Amino acid sequence: MEKADYDLIIIGGGPAGLTAGIYAVRARLNVILYEKLVPGGQIIVTDWVENFPGFPEGISGMELVDRMVAQAKRLGLKIENNEVISLDISGPVKRVVFPDGAITAHAVILATGAHPKKLGVLGEEAFLGKGISFCATCDGPFYKNKVVAAVGGGDTAVQESIYLTKFAKKVYLIHRRDQLRATKILQERAFANDKIDLIWNSVVTGVEGSDGLEKITVKNIKTGEFKEFPVDGCFIWVGILPNSGFIPDTIKKDEYGFIITDYKMETSAPGVFAAGDGRSTPLRQIATAVGDAAIAAFSAEHYIESLKN
Ligand SMILES: Cc1cc2nc3c(=O)[nH]c(=O)nc-3n(C[C@H](O)[C@H](O)[C@H](O)COP(=O)(O)OP(=O)(O)OC[C@H]3O[C@@H](n4cnc5c(N)ncnc54)[C@H](O)[C@@H]3O)c2cc1C
Repeated sequence: MEKADYDLIIIGGGPAGLTAGIYAVRARLNVILYEKLVPGGQIIVTDWVENFPGFPEGISGMELVDRMVAQAKRLGLKIENNEVISLDISGPVKRVVFPDGAITAHAVILATGAHPKKLGVLGEEAFLGKGISFCATCDGPFYKNKVVAAVGGGDTAVQESIYLTKFAKKVYLIHRRDQLRATKILQERAFANDKIDLIWNSVVTGVEGSDGLEKITVKNIKTGEFKEFPVDGCFIWVGILPNSGFIPDTIKKDEYGFIITDYKMETSAPGVFAAGDGRSTPLRQIATAVGDAAIAAFSAEHYIESLKN
């Protein structure tokens, strides 16, 4: 067996990375986790988590992060702050590269998750952080008694729109279809909330304002009609894209860039595993991320063991 700095390197410190870390330290692997921001991933921007088992009343995203990080650290997981910018997997020992150096390991778990998709409409870039947001937890309180739009129809869009009604006097929930994709319990809550006004079969085609956002233009895709909505903020939840730009093409990905794995969470490159939202998978949630990660760490442990024989 060739020498390497670590048995296992985990890239990404969201729920998937932290879970992989918990399993790996308990398997007594020599492991390190790298996170480019702060550990927690997307749950840092999640107001309230109601569908992760073990918390009968639900739990705030931030508290869940704190608990996961505390658990991983108590068990001895080493967490370092650095961004992985490339990966050399051409040999049996994998080389993980940072802006300021590189380290090696026998196996790697990619747990780099995803980031929100933008609308791609005129004016959007100019109002990022000045009325356009992807995070209700971070920015919702700025919209007390104001009018906001929320774009999307999945779980995140509906749940976060409901949260926004704690502050905003009206939330236009704009969805391109004639029914929501969100879980039924969330739909029922949205329909029962008189601050939420559903705008069906519609897409946002433009955003305008001066110092801050002032109005959005919405097109009804059934009738072709355009309508302007005066809003103070616009929250976008129209899907996510993988953080997989640094991952070499030798690792197979789907058409959107999500990493393809087998049932053991192993990628097309031996010894490289993937877990969580960055993986090509039908459901992207905390429960699925932690499930993937447990399998990935278990598979990585067996892979490393097999190198010794
Ligand atoms: C607003 C919102 C609400 C949500 N609500 C719920 C909910 O109620 N219930 C639920 O189950 N799920 C919810 N989700 C989804 C859930 O947050 C994700 O499924 C989960 O966080 C995925 O975990 P992950 O570890 O795979 O990825 P992420 O959480 O995306 O974490 C990936 C981590 O990797 C890091 N990273 C990326 N690239 C690099 C790199 N090159 N080098 C180093 N680090 C890197 C990132 O900084 C990030 O911390 C919500 C998501 C959002 C955005």
